[in-house]
Amino acid sequence: MRQQTTRHPGCRQLVQTPDEQLADGLRDLEAKQLYRHRRLVEQCSPRPWLRVDGRDRLVFCSNDYLGLAHDPRLARVLRDSATQWGTGAGASHLVTGHCAEHHALEDEVADFTGRTRALLFSTGYMANLGVIDALAGRGDLVASDDLNHASLIDGARISGATVKRFRHADAVSAGECFEARSGGRGLIITDGVFSMDGDVAPVRALADIAVREKAWLVVDDAHGLGVLGQGGCGSVGAAHLGEQEVPVLIGTFGKAFGSFGAFVAGSEQLIEMLINSARTYIYTTALPAPIAAATRCALTIAREEEWRREHLCTLVERFRNGAESLGLRLLESSTPIQPILIGDAGRALKVSEELWDLGFWVAAIRPPTVPEGSSRLRVTLSATHEPQQIDDLLDALSRSTALK
Ligand SMILES: *Cc1c(COP(=O)(O)O)cnc(C)c1O
Repeated sequence: MRQQTTRHPGCRQLVQTPDEQLADGLRDLEAKQLYRHRRLVEQCSPRPWLRVDGRDRLVFCSNDYLGLAHDPRLARVLRDSATQWGTGAGASHLVTGHCAEHHALEDEVADFTGRTRALLFSTGYMANLGVIDALAGRGDLVASDDLNHASLIDGARISGATVKRFRHADAVSAGECFEARSGGRGLIITDGVFSMDGDVAPVRALADIAVREKAWLVVDDAHGLGVLGQGGCGSVGAAHLGEQEVPVLIGTFGKAFGSFGAFVAGSEQLIEMLINSARTYIYTTALPAPIAAATRCALTIAREEEWRREHLCTLVERFRNGAESLGLRLLESSTPIQPILIGDAGRALKVSEELWDLGFWVAAIRPPTVPEGSSRLRVTLSATHEPQQIDDLLDALSRSTALK
């Protein structure tokens, strides 16, 4: 390329500068209604309200399902722990960063999930990259649900394994991925609760396929833990699947637990292998200890305060009944993720903007986060919502002109 421009100096004018190249790409996004903007939150209490542009907005798109992100008990623990441990861990877990708060949290997560051990990661994104890359490589096969979260997709991609996608929530289709397998390891990877659809993976059927194919089943239960099952045991716990059936269980603390960070839970050997080879575990600074302390507090509250899950169930039912009588297109979801399917990206944006003007914050989710033609409003419910606020949202939806 460079040689050519040297020989034909006139052609150089055809080559764009880096800034021109970026501007072109951004114009393209804008034309497709796929440009993304951030909104600046000026105040974030009392939940479920957030203040933006000087006006309080009722939020229906956060992942703070149990309403713990602003719980004063977590804040108190965080403050006290910061006095004791300081703000930064100062190093990775394998150097000087692994402290008593982290270790206690790992033990408590193992107990919470019914696993032998658990290992903390800085984020769910990093947990997924680290685990899949450590478990699979060239010559191995990863079977991945069509609607998996980006972090599972990226983990499979960087692992170098052959990746086959199976039909969404279809265990038979997952099994078919292994038909032409020639040795090597096999992995089946899936969200427990699908992040943009709200439906639950067929974890038991996938566990059967995994046994048949001698494959590892990896379940990322980012949206199930804390929300589903007795004590918030998640989609895997609710299906009564233990470490034998689901040997790799992943969760995040940034959603229902109202904190930050993530974990992988499983056998002694799995955790020791990850400590020794997961690159996103080894080459990064440990979580701040006060965050681990606050998360311990969140785990206890999430497990004990069953009323939060019961209240969520009531809200889900109220929302679904109301939305159905308005003729809105809902998905098959019984979780607090209750998307309204719109289709066209521009129209989804328009509805979101109409709701915004009425004081509601509901994000429009567009490609590439969801498949082309399936743009949606991702409505999520939280234990901090009052039934009246669900009715208010439904009323606003009924007034949207773009939905008609
Ligand atoms: C949010 C999410 C993650 C990432 O977790 P973070 O801790 O926010 O990085 C991973 N998997 C799924 C399914 C998610 O929804």
